[in-house]
Amino acid sequence: MMTTQNSPVYNFSAGPAILPDAVLRTAQQELLDYNGSGLSVMTMSHRSDVFMSILHHAEQDLRQLLNIPDNYKILFLQGGASAQFNMMTLNLAHGFKRADSVVSGNWSRIAHQQMGKLTQTEIHLAAHGGDLFDYQDIPPAASWDIDPQSAFVHFCSNETVHGLQYLDLPKPDGLPTLVCDMSSEILSRQINVSDYGMIYAGAQKNIGPSGATIVIIREDLLDRSDDSIPDVWNYKKHVIKQGMYNTPATYPIYISGLVFRWLQAQGGVAQIEKTNALKASLLYQAIDNSNGFYINNIKEHARSRMNVIFHTADKATDDLFIQEASLRGLSMLNGYKSMGGMRASIYNAMPLQGVEALIDFMRDFQRRHG
Ligand SMILES: *Cc1c(COP(=O)(O)O)cnc(C)c1O
Repeated sequence: MMTTQNSPVYNFSAGPAILPDAVLRTAQQELLDYNGSGLSVMTMSHRSDVFMSILHHAEQDLRQLLNIPDNYKILFLQGGASAQFNMMTLNLAHGFKRADSVVSGNWSRIAHQQMGKLTQTEIHLAAHGGDLFDYQDIPPAASWDIDPQSAFVHFCSNETVHGLQYLDLPKPDGLPTLVCDMSSEILSRQINVSDYGMIYAGAQKNIGPSGATIVIIREDLLDRSDDSIPDVWNYKKHVIKQGMYNTPATYPIYISGLVFRWLQAQGGVAQIEKTNALKASLLYQAIDNSNGFYINNIKEHARSRMNVIFHTADKATDDLFIQEASLRGLSMLNGYKSMGGMRASIYNAMPLQGVEALIDFMRDFQRRHG
């Protein structure tokens, strides 16, 4: 955590989000002179041996952390997760009549709206988790109205805004190729990459700074990337050029690489998964044991371990909570702009002590205002 004077500041921002202190300190030390090169990573050619090595190691470490099989390619692209809504459709649905899409919250809703642009493919709504801005449960995979012949079925495993997560991830059996937006949960728990055709994630939630987007794609799907797709949006071109089709987001990739090494030092994904489960359960317990002072209406089996949303009985109290918390070093607890309320994003880099400090404050605030 950062500190102001002597007290710690815990950053609960949903994204761009908290990064491990140790990573930022390393970056600070290396800012002007990376590894004796006399250059900053920010100012060196993306084709230099030094940067190529940074990219290579970031890729290898991510592969190791998520146990990514050899027949999957890893790309670090630009444009954020939002660009993937269209890029995946242009590439993976080319020549297909239909692609399926599951809406379980704000991000998969936006994805669903955008996917239909610039494509002949019908984007079929396979499931819908609730009314606009009132998602309290996730539609289970067994309820999805899919066609196995579809190009793919797209879903979002963790809805950052609405605080919903597929804690039980869908199994691929009987489904079209699974494509998943894991922006706000990638590396938070063990997953079976082979269940997916493609996984993507913007870096700025659980990986690194904004600017890099991770795409993990099964090799055979690259055959779908038609030449008519502009090269910069074409997965196959990026893979052929080994991630150097154009200038990648070099500095965000470097920081992401430092985060991967930090994660390995924490004991890897299996270990951080345990801490994440503990952090989330403590926070939900604090909400559930508040005699209704703090409210979270998400069905228990769908409660996100990354983004914990809650509110009190009225907006004035919510605002006061956020304001007082901020003065106590509990920063960025405001909910999504159109949602209001509070949201505590407790990504990998949030230490257990940060969650405990938040729970202490919640109890104290309730004593004074309950
Ligand atoms: C933040 C977020 C996005 C959008 O990411 P950008 O990088 O801003 O395009 C998409 N999906 C999920 C799940 C997110 O959390």
